[in-house]
Amino acid sequence: MKLVKIETGNFMADGGALFGVIPKVMWEEKYPADEDNYCNLAMRCLLVDTGERKVLIDTGAGAKQSAKFFSWHRLNGEASLLNSLTSAGYKPSDITDVILTHLHWDHCGGCVYYDEQDEPKVRFDNANHWVSEAQWQNYVAPNSREGVVYFPDNMQPIFEAGLLKVVQKDAMIMDHIEVRILNGHTQGNMLPIIHSPQGLVAFMGDVIPVLPSIRLPWVSAYDTMPIESIKEKQMFLKEAVEKGICLFFEHDCYNECATVAMGSKGFGVDKLFTLNEWSNLNSGV
Ligand SMILES: [Zn+2]
Repeated sequence: MKLVKIETGNFMADGGALFGVIPKVMWEEKYPADEDNYCNLAMRCLLVDTGERKVLIDTGAGAKQSAKFFSWHRLNGEASLLNSLTSAGYKPSDITDVILTHLHWDHCGGCVYYDEQDEPKVRFDNANHWVSEAQWQNYVAPNSREGVVYFPDNMQPIFEAGLLKVVQKDAMIMDHIEVRILNGHTQGNMLPIIHSPQGLVAFMGDVIPVLPSIRLPWVSAYDTMPIESIKEKQMFLKEAVEKGICLFFEHDCYNECATVAMGSKGFGVDKLFTLNEWSNLNSGV
């Protein structure tokens, strides 16, 4: 099995929103912000190549939304979904499965693009696109808070092409890949866990978006049910300590992966790695 990080570019978000009720004097020691209080965030996806299947987890922001929308979110960085896949030696048609943690714009925007005739086209047209039933329902009929972060053209063409696969509950959805359904960030948010020969890797998405969010009360203001987020995080981190799970961060610009330890102040970092360092370490290379 091969695990490859797929960088798709960065965007910026308000640090106050990212760290919720935590005061800036505390979070700015752990994650930098610019003079406008914006923090830079990666959109780091993960390719799991099992040999038989080529599975992409999340697809970044894509390029469909208006220049005005993207300017609010200050897209930056050189990386793009297609370039990163090409450098890793993959074509979009190689991808057999796309797992979407949820359908907020920065997680699924790369699934669809507009061609030269301005027609929407599915980027990974050989792939099943896995979304939880609860998240799909939330996307189709959004509440007034999340409505602004869902875009119909990100997923409608997938549905129309018959490429949507709906997940009802926690399951091994294919060999080596388990998904857990959590609801704190958004209804039906999926947490994918890869059972690799080197050990377990969890794709944290917005459950623990950046390294400092490992601390239990450090919950983003984007979460729709923050108390639920804390309970879910606590359960997951307890298991992560017991099983030595490697946490893969989608949004942390500065840290790719970490293992977790329980210290005197609660859950914290055990070791930091790049994904390659973690894989090599555990395969004895
Ligand atoms: Zn989100």
